[in-house]
Amino acid sequence: MDSQKQERIGNILIVDDQPHNLGVLSDLLTLNHYKVRCAISGAMALKAIKVDPPDLVLLDIFMPEMDGYEVCRLLKQDAKHQNIPVIFLSALGEADDKVKAFDVGGVDYVTKPFQPTEVLARIRNQLALRFCQAEIVQLNASLELKVEQRTAELRAEVEKRQIAQERLLYLATHDPLTKLPNRASLMQKIYDLLARNQTESGHRFGLLFLDLDRFKVINDSLGHIIGDQLLFSVAQRLQQVIPQHSFVARLGGDEFTLLIEDFEYEQDLIIIFETIRDAIKEVFLIDDMELFIDVSAGICYQSRNYEKPEHLLRDADTAMYHAKSEKSGYKVFNASMHLEAVAEFSLQTELAKTVKTLSLKKPQPGPILPYYQPIISLKTGEITGFETLARWHHPSQGWISPGNFIPIAEKTGLIFPISLFIFKLACHQLITWKQQGLITPLARISVNLSAKHFMQDDLIEQIDRLLLDTGLPGGALKLEITEGSLIRNEAEAIEILEALRDREIELAIDDFGTGYSSLSYLYRFPVKTLKLDQSFICDLDKPNTGQRAEIVKTVIHLAHTLGMEVVAEGIETAQQTKILQDIGCDLGQGYWFARPSGAAEIEKFLQTQTTIAPLNEQQYPVD
Ligand code: C2E
Ligand code: MG
Ligand code: MG
Repeated sequence: MDSQKQERIGNILIVDDQPHNLGVLSDLLTLNHYKVRCAISGAMALKAIKVDPPDLVLLDIFMPEMDGYEVCRLLKQDAKHQNIPVIFLSALGEADDKVKAFDVGGVDYVTKPFQPTEVLARIRNQLALRFCQAEIVQLNASLELKVEQRTAELRAEVEKRQIAQERLLYLATHDPLTKLPNRASLMQKIYDLLARNQTESGHRFGLLFLDLDRFKVINDSLGHIIGDQLLFSVAQRLQQVIPQHSFVARLGGDEFTLLIEDFEYEQDLIIIFETIRDAIKEVFLIDDMELFIDVSAGICYQSRNYEKPEHLLRDADTAMYHAKSEKSGYKVFNASMHLEAVAEFSLQTELAKTVKTLSLKKPQPGPILPYYQPIISLKTGEITGFETLARWHHPSQGWISPGNFIPIAEKTGLIFPISLFIFKLACHQLITWKQQGLITPLARISVNLSAKHFMQDDLIEQIDRLLLDTGLPGGALKLEITEGSLIRNEAEAIEILEALRDREIELAIDDFGTGYSSLSYLYRFPVKTLKLDQSFICDLDKPNTGQRAEIVKTVIHLAHTLGMEVVAEGIETAQQTKILQDIGCDLGQGYWFARPSGAAEIEKFLQTQTTIAPLNEQQYPVD
C-alpha cells in the first residue's frame, strides 16, 4: 500500500532559485524514490503546479521576483490546489519567518543548511498526512455517491410504494367492474356529510338507492359476462345523466346509489330519478343484442337527523324495496316503512327461532302446523282430497296468516324446512285417515310449493325421500304451484314436471287468473288441475257479473279441452256453487263447504260423513 502511494503521489516539486540547492535536494529525494520536479522561480512553480499538481511542494522563501510567501499565498487562493502541502525552505531561522510561513498556508518549515534525514522525515510526515487526507476525500466522495445512489433508490422505492398504496386505496374504494366508487366510499362520503351537518345546519342532501329491475333474469338467461357488460353500460349511462356534483357509487350486484347535495326542493330528487329512469329504459346494445331494463329507486332525505351512514342507506333500501313490491318506480322513505321493516325483521327472527324447534325426522304439530281444507266434487259432494295450509302460532301475536309469514319464509330460505315439515305431517295424515277408512282410497293431499322451492336442484330427491319416509304413494300427492314458477324457467320446469309425472304426482296450477293467465302455454306442461283464483269466484253471484261468469265458463271449457280438471277456490255461497255447477266446474273449495281446520276437527267430522252436499248450508266445523 505504502509503495503504491509513493509510486502514485510521491510527486514533489522543489522550488529554489539556487541551482545548487535544487541539485542537492533533487538528488536526495530521487535517491529516496520520490518523483521530483524542479522550478527555479515562483512563476515557474505556479505554472508547473497547474500543469501537473504535485503531492507536495518544497518552497524556498527568498527568491528574486516572487518570494515563497507570495507563491504559497497564490497557491492557497486556488481552490483546486490549495490542499497541496507546502514545506518552506529557508536559511533564516527567526521565529517571525516561521510564523509568516504558517500564516500564508505552509505546513512545515525546514531550515538551511538542512539535515537530509530531517528533510526526509518532514516530507514523509506531510505526504502521509496528504495521503490520508486524499484518502478521506476519496472515501467521502464515494460515500457521498453511495448516499446519493441509495437516496435515489429509496426515492424510487417510496414512489413505487406510493403508487402501490394509491392503487390499493383505489381498489379498496372503487368497484372493479364499473370503476365507480364502492360501498366503502359511499359510507365515508355520507359520514362526512353527516359530520358537516352537525356544524353547518341547512346543508341538505338525499340518497337515491337504485336497483335494476329484472337484472337477475338477464344474468341468469344470458350469462354473467353479458350481465357484467350491462352493468358497466348502466354505470356509464348513469354518469352521463346525473347532476354534476352528485356522487354515484355501485353497492354491488345491480344496486347503485346517488348522493345529491344542495338541491332546492325534495321534488328535485324525483325529477333526477325520472331522468335516470328514462336513460336506463333506452335500449342497451350488448354483444349485438338489444337489451331493455328498468330501474326502481328508494329515496331518502337526510332530514331525519341520521347519526350513522348505514341508517340512511338502510332506509333508502327499504324505500326501494317498497317501490319494487308496489311496482311504483320510486318511493320516498317515511317512518312507517321503518316500523314495517322492524316488524318484518322481528317476525323473521321469531320465525327462525320457531323453525329451529321443528323436528324434520319426527314432525309433530306445534307452533307451526298444517290445517286442511277439503276439496269436494261439485257433482257428488264427495271429498276428493284436502289442501294443506300452513299455520303459525306466534308466541305474542297469536295466529299469523301464511299470507304474512310465507313470503318472509321465502325471502329467508326458511321456507324449505317449513315446507318439508308441513309436507311430512300432511303425508302421514293422509295415510292415517286412509288407514282409518275415513276417506276414499283415491283421495289426494295437496301441498303448496313455493316457486323458490320448486326450482331447487334437489327437489325431486327431496320428494322421493319424503315418499319413502312416509310410505305415501306418489299418486296420493298433488303439488300446487303458481304460474310464475313455470314461466320463469320453462325448460327446467318441464323437466321437473315430467319427473313428477313419472312418480304419478299430480300438479295443480294455483291462483289461476292472477298471473299470466294464459291457457295457451299450459298445454306444454303436464298439469292435471287448474285452480281458479277466488277473485273470479267471489263476484259470480253479484248482479251484472254475467261477463265474469262467461270468462269462468270459457276458462273451464278450455281447461277441459286440454284435459285438465278445474277447482274453484274460495266458494262462499250456495249461489256461487250453483253457478259453478251449471257451467261445469269439477271441484270446489271454500268456506261454504268447510274452512281450513286442524287434523282433530276434520277427523271428528269425517267420522260422521265423507261427503258435503254442495248446496247445503255450511255443515263443517270452523277454524
Ligand atoms: P292458496 O294456496 O291459494 O290457498 C287458499 C287460500 O284461500 C287459503 O288461505 C285459504 O284459507 C283461503 N280460503 C279458502 N276458502 C276460502 C273462502 O271461501 N274465502 C276466502 N276468502 N278464502 C278462502 P291461507 O290459508 O291464508 O293461505 C294463503 C296462501 O298462503 C295460500 O294460498 C298459499 O299460497 C300460501 N300457503 C299456505 N300454506 C302454505 C305452505 O305450506 N307452503 C307454501 N309454499 N305456501 C303456503
Ligand atoms: Mg294452494
Ligand atoms: Mg289458491
